Amino acid sequence: MLRMSTLFLRTLREDPADAEVPSHRLLVRAGYVRRVAPGIYSWLPLGVRMLANVSRVIREEMDRIGAQEVLFPALLPKEPYEASDRWTEYGDLLFRLKDRRGNDYLLGPTHEELFTLMVKGEYGSYKDLPVMLYQVQTKYRDEARPRAGILRGREFVMKDSYSFDLDDEGLQRSYDLHRDAYIAIFERLGMDYRIVSAVSGAMGGSASEEFLAPAPTGEDTFVSCTSCDYAANTEAVELRAPAPSDPSTQPAMQVLDTPGTPTIDTLVQDLRGKGFELDAGGTLKNVVVLLRYPDGKVEPLVVGVPGDREVDVKRLEANVSPAEVLPFEKFDQHPQLVKGYIGPQGLEGLRYVVDPLVVQGTSWATGANVEGKHAVNVVMGRDFTPSGVVPAAEVRAGDPCGRCGSPLEIGRGIEIGHIFQLGRKYADAFGLDVLGPDSKPVRVTMGSYGVGVSRAIAAIAEQSYDEKGLVWSREVAPVDVHVVGLGKGEQKPEAERIALELEARGLTVLLDDRVKVSPGVAFKDAELIGIPTSVVIGKGLDEGKAELRDRKSGEAREVDLADLVETVLAEVRG
Ligand code: ATP
Ligand code: MG
Repeated sequence: MLRMSTLFLRTLREDPADAEVPSHRLLVRAGYVRRVAPGIYSWLPLGVRMLANVSRVIREEMDRIGAQEVLFPALLPKEPYEASDRWTEYGDLLFRLKDRRGNDYLLGPTHEELFTLMVKGEYGSYKDLPVMLYQVQTKYRDEARPRAGILRGREFVMKDSYSFDLDDEGLQRSYDLHRDAYIAIFERLGMDYRIVSAVSGAMGGSASEEFLAPAPTGEDTFVSCTSCDYAANTEAVELRAPAPSDPSTQPAMQVLDTPGTPTIDTLVQDLRGKGFELDAGGTLKNVVVLLRYPDGKVEPLVVGVPGDREVDVKRLEANVSPAEVLPFEKFDQHPQLVKGYIGPQGLEGLRYVVDPLVVQGTSWATGANVEGKHAVNVVMGRDFTPSGVVPAAEVRAGDPCGRCGSPLEIGRGIEIGHIFQLGRKYADAFGLDVLGPDSKPVRVTMGSYGVGVSRAIAAIAEQSYDEKGLVWSREVAPVDVHVVGLGKGEQKPEAERIALELEARGLTVLLDDRVKVSPGVAFKDAELIGIPTSVVIGKGLDEGKAELRDRKSGEAREVDLADLVETVLAEVRG
């Protein structure tokens, strides 16, 4: 039993100065975590119990799909990550260190390399596969912006698993098993979540989905269709684009004097005055950014988007990963870039890409690459040909769904899980083959699947709190019941008796047995800590009554002491 009189816990009445979001504020105030350094937190007894609860749910569901638990070190040698190129690709995100002999090590950000090597070391035949392995382990990433307490830490707990299959059908099966397991996990954790299509990013590979917990404080934005079941991270969303057409049927390109029109609005006004009926969406905006690759190389990139939209830097960055997107400043080194008058038809020597909304045969008004001049009837596939297509335009609520055309909605969410079909990227890097039935080697195909264990606790808190404190769901709450004895008479001994009986019946209990604590403080603490059910032994004891409180609804009801234990058991076990 946890006793408040001795529990290593100090609740705080004041919000921590550095807390920007509710989960951070409340997890610190209620004594679950304490900050050690930016993005690095210690867990106090109540927090440790929550980590254990979330991990237990995850382990049960991973075991249920036949995955087996292993445990890798966090301190890893450089070589495997050099073989996969991630020693470089991870850039500043990786914590690198040296041992006393000067050898390079890293603190593992995720473990594809090590799992691949382990399977390669142990297994050699097609009969050994499929296999799914997982661990619950501490990960390290030197995040650029550690944020919101444990929501984005530099040290955090992740469940990562990896599947190994002989062929694509096998990989699809392993992926589907994980998807089902994740659904079961987030249901049991009592979370609201969405499954959205995702960009595969630095991991490589193809099919990938994220589990997002909708919350206003989330760093991810996602779209969902108001009519069909399409949902995607805005980084990965496919909008409905115009159909490609034959560029040769369009009227000829024409260059016009448009002095003093460096913005889309001034350009549209000017062109309308010249008899061209168009709006901002008919102009092509060309934005220059600087790409910085993990090896330090930089390169300007010009991105074309319809002029009624901004470039969404986060979306662009996700689609050029592992490169970083930085502001471009060195216009003086590139005379072909005329600020305010850039067009795709004169950018020799520069990489030019378009958003998927800009398609073959579409005609645009855009810069003429000369100060004070624009061009109209600039047609893709005739007057310019981009070197690639990169999703980069901002996505807006009401945009038509790429699948059914109905309006899309936009929401914010916290990424709590991610499932990838990696394919053979790591098997290729490490030569992971098994002998097939015909004794010929078969290259193994892999999946990689993560859940943010510590982040999930913050995400649950973001979805479930009120002005008084945290409101946990039953599976994750540090204990099942909070028992409070109030008063100087028999209340405290009776509370103790009830607590012991509940414990004997298999429940976990937090007993507020503090002596010099007022009822007001005891209630405030109970509400802050957020145990779903509490029992209050107070004034009603003389009439043989206790009070049963539900943290979520805020309801309190009187229960006969004689029925109390059974009622609590029924409540907790649902
Ligand atoms: P993000 O986009 O939020 O940086 P990610 O896509 O880099 O996350 P993955 O590599 O997919 O993360 O890691 C698997 C899971 O680990 C994520 O879904 C998330 O729940 C969790 N996670 C990732 N980074 C952090 C972090 N810095 N702090 C806490 N949890 C994290
Ligand atoms: Mg991810």
